[in-house]
Amino acid sequence: MKKIWIVAGTRPNFIKITQFKRVVAEYHSLDIKIVHTGQHFDKNMTDVFFKELNITPDYFLHIQPASPVQQIAEIIIKLDKLTNEIGKPDLIIVPGDVNSTLAGAVFANKSEIPLAHLEAGLRSFDTSMPEEYNRIVADHLAQYLFVTEESGKENLMKEHCTGNVYMVGNTMIDTLKHFEEQIEKSQISEKLKVEPENYALVTIHRPSNVDKAENLKKVIEVLNCISNFYKVVFPIHPRTEKKLKEFSLFENLKIKHNIIFCEPLGYLDFQKLIKYSKFVLTDSGGVQEETTYRQIPCLTLRKNTERPVTCTIGTNTLLPFDIKSIEEYILQIKNNQYKKGTIPPLWDGQATERVVKILNDIL
Ligand code: UDP
Repeated sequence: MKKIWIVAGTRPNFIKITQFKRVVAEYHSLDIKIVHTGQHFDKNMTDVFFKELNITPDYFLHIQPASPVQQIAEIIIKLDKLTNEIGKPDLIIVPGDVNSTLAGAVFANKSEIPLAHLEAGLRSFDTSMPEEYNRIVADHLAQYLFVTEESGKENLMKEHCTGNVYMVGNTMIDTLKHFEEQIEKSQISEKLKVEPENYALVTIHRPSNVDKAENLKKVIEVLNCISNFYKVVFPIHPRTEKKLKEFSLFENLKIKHNIIFCEPLGYLDFQKLIKYSKFVLTDSGGVQEETTYRQIPCLTLRKNTERPVTCTIGTNTLLPFDIKSIEEYILQIKNNQYKKGTIPPLWDGQATERVVKILNDIL
């Protein structure tokens, strides 16, 4: 029996790995364990996902809220302790681009454990994004690189990454397709009193948008602009809430009658809101992909994206911080003149199957 560990620690990580245990159960020679680092600890960002998505972490490293350096160091040390206690796995998988990804990759390399990177090759080419070096390091250390879109393959080649590259599609879409029936049953629209196609859904949490008061003020201008056209549903990421409070901007925004605030939502509720929204405003990586899959217009409040396929063939547009052009896009959407988009190749709900089959052949 070959042992595989998935090292995951954040909301988007968990959403990318929900189908692994189900698929691996079909292979009698593979055993998979989920190691939860504890990087996200807020119950709205973790527990709700385990419950809804049926994920049970097998090992919990319980890292403490701390600086990225301390967290990365602690994850590496705790992974080392875990292997000393129960032995090394035959392979480690790290999904995505967060600090747990980097820590898992460095640990695997230093412990001579083969490494696979899920969602390899994505590049924003913006090194001020904390995720960019996590992606680069994980890709250079991995022997197996699982890619979601063509640009990933090209970037890995240009950087001379030495691992084997496999275009497998997008495991995030596997989750979405697998839970479609439960998503449909969510009562969130009734709870928030929003009508289908009559609201915009917003998620904003990237440091470039929320960490400086001047940038966060611009985000608020954008929200105010949207609220002139549509109701806005805004589930607030803990980082954004903290910054809104720190810069005393929260109260101003709260009194706007057309903006509905809520805590970060569970997966099923959030997906239901995407599915029936008029459009989504975001700076999230995963949400750009989910809207492209659903063919819902997505305006991304960023200068770049590591997921270019969502713009070239999907429904995503990088939005300049200029209210006039934002209004133009909203009007296009309102008048059904916004681009339609198509679903990228292999975003078909079978990516996890492809990954597991490859791992079964390799190990
Ligand atoms: N998401 C969610 N509830 C929310 C906001 C987002 O379930 O209130 C989901 C979203 O659909 C996507 C994932 O969280 O699947 C994206 O996570 P996040 O934006 O934190 O990370 P990123 O993708 O930017 O790395």
